[in-house]
Amino acid sequence: MDILHLDIKSMMLMCVFIGVLITGGLAALLRDRYVCPGMHHWVSGFCILTMGVFFAVGRAFYPLWVSLLFGNLFSFLGANLLWLGLLKYNQRIKTRHYGVIGISVLTVVVLLFMLKMGITEIKRAELVSVVFNLQGILCAREAFRDRAKYESGRLMFGLTCILVIIGSCLRFLTYRYDESYSLLTTNISNLLLIFNAIIVFLGLSFSIMLITSQWLQQKLAVFAAYDSLTGIYNRHGLNEQTTALFDPRKKRMFSHFCVAMIDIDYFKKTNDDHGHHVGDLVLKEVAAKLRENIRHNDILARYGGEEFIVVLPAMSQQDTLNWAERVCKEIAQQPIYVNGLMISVTISVGLAEILSTAKYSLDDAIKKADTALYQAKESGRNRVCCFS
Ligand code: GH3
Ligand code: MG
Ligand code: MG
Repeated sequence: MDILHLDIKSMMLMCVFIGVLITGGLAALLRDRYVCPGMHHWVSGFCILTMGVFFAVGRAFYPLWVSLLFGNLFSFLGANLLWLGLLKYNQRIKTRHYGVIGISVLTVVVLLFMLKMGITEIKRAELVSVVFNLQGILCAREAFRDRAKYESGRLMFGLTCILVIIGSCLRFLTYRYDESYSLLTTNISNLLLIFNAIIVFLGLSFSIMLITSQWLQQKLAVFAAYDSLTGIYNRHGLNEQTTALFDPRKKRMFSHFCVAMIDIDYFKKTNDDHGHHVGDLVLKEVAAKLRENIRHNDILARYGGEEFIVVLPAMSQQDTLNWAERVCKEIAQQPIYVNGLMISVTISVGLAEILSTAKYSLDDAIKKADTALYQAKESGRNRVCCFS
């Protein structure tokens, strides 16, 4: 086959250049303000992997043992770092995981020993393939672990690893038909090695860029939808969640819903008496208490300064009234302890019921709940009023 006359050494050098470019490109991402966890490991992994390929091809120029030692050591360490990066990204990394570096070092020692004992290159290549495949399996497993639907970057990472494992297994088979195997000769086995290197460099670098961009998008979505003080939804999050809940294109599960508008009574006085910092802590506590008192499908949001909205799907007005009165009573009866102070808090609640989600408008419901809240305030506070 003509293709087999390609010069393996030049192709390996090309892989080194690709590796240098990719490492540089990924390293540039490290300058961004928000870098996803694991990125530092991946950049160092690519850098060391590239050095590994460089030393492997370098056996044409310097003693075999140098190429064997550094070529394999760097390649193994590079693969280790790619795996450790995934663990870091998944927030599962522990000190013991770094033990994998010890296994890489041990394998290289065994390879050097095999060289000294005059064991054939094919046997050493087999050992290297086995170790790489095991690392590939570890990486693929970590890439797929608890993957969310939107994380196509991790899917691509895992599939790339599987592709490399398949390539490596095929290479393993070709050893059997090529008794005179040597790393720098042009043969099917080494062609597969080049393919594998290109897949690793291109496939994994694209995956990592996708992972970074998806991580950032997810982070932005969280920033946009949640209130940073209380950790519950903000107005944007409330709109998004409610729209999703009653989306007519989806199978509608709820035909009606109630909205509760909750406002802390005389909150300005809390700020005036104890300062804004204490006021903030009180807001957090009230939000936490409300969160404890909602169901899985209910949506709790901070609507304004000390105003909260709860959307309660499939709850009748009477049930919502009972719920709101219970919460109101609980908050009034349990003072909040912040900064060594005991602060009594009461809330007023306005309720509105929407009977048909077909013509639903969250804004209409909120307006009605707001009117009811005004009545609750007017009639003395620390109470619940329904829109009528
Ligand atoms: P009412 O019973 O009529 O609701 O009285 P109020 O004092 O709670 O109402 P008002 O609207 O006059 O005051 C709300 C206060 O909430 C004013 C503002 O300083 C405070 N506030 C709004 N957002 C925050 C916040 O994020 N942190 C703190 N500490 N205070 C806030
Ligand atoms: Mg208030
Ligand atoms: Mg208010």
